[in-house]
Amino acid sequence: MKGKELLLLTLGIMAVGLVAGAGMDASSTNGQAQMPMTADQQARWAKLSATGKQKFGRFLAALAGAGYRLAWIETVGTGHVPGSRHDKGNAIDLNLFLPNGARLNKYWVEGGQDAGTEWNKVGLLAESLGIRWGGRFSTPDPNHFDI
Ligand SMILES: [Zn+2]
Repeated sequence: MKGKELLLLTLGIMAVGLVAGAGMDASSTNGQAQMPMTADQQARWAKLSATGKQKFGRFLAALAGAGYRLAWIETVGTGHVPGSRHDKGNAIDLNLFLPNGARLNKYWVEGGQDAGTEWNKVGLLAESLGIRWGGRFSTPDPNHFDI
């Protein structure tokens, strides 16, 4: 391989790295742990506003650092009220796998732990990052988070 070809190949690899890096930017901040996402979850994530990606990215990175994993995420999806925070890409609904592997759904935990106690931990973490937690609503929505 000639020097010029090697240089072009190297530049090509660097460009691919930059694109891949940009794709991961949503769920990585300040070197904290990233939250692994499936392609479907990434597609939903991509619909968030720029501020949503930034704030919720910090939130998910903090959750990943605490041992949680993403089970399900909804962002803008169908069924949300026009003009709502979801509709504007400023809200997420989550189901999580707890650090012990049990799935935390909106109202129950696989294996029988108290979902309210578990969502309270997650909600406090969100609030510490300036995110509003649906668990405080007059009709609690414990797996909803918005900005
Ligand atoms: Zn919601």
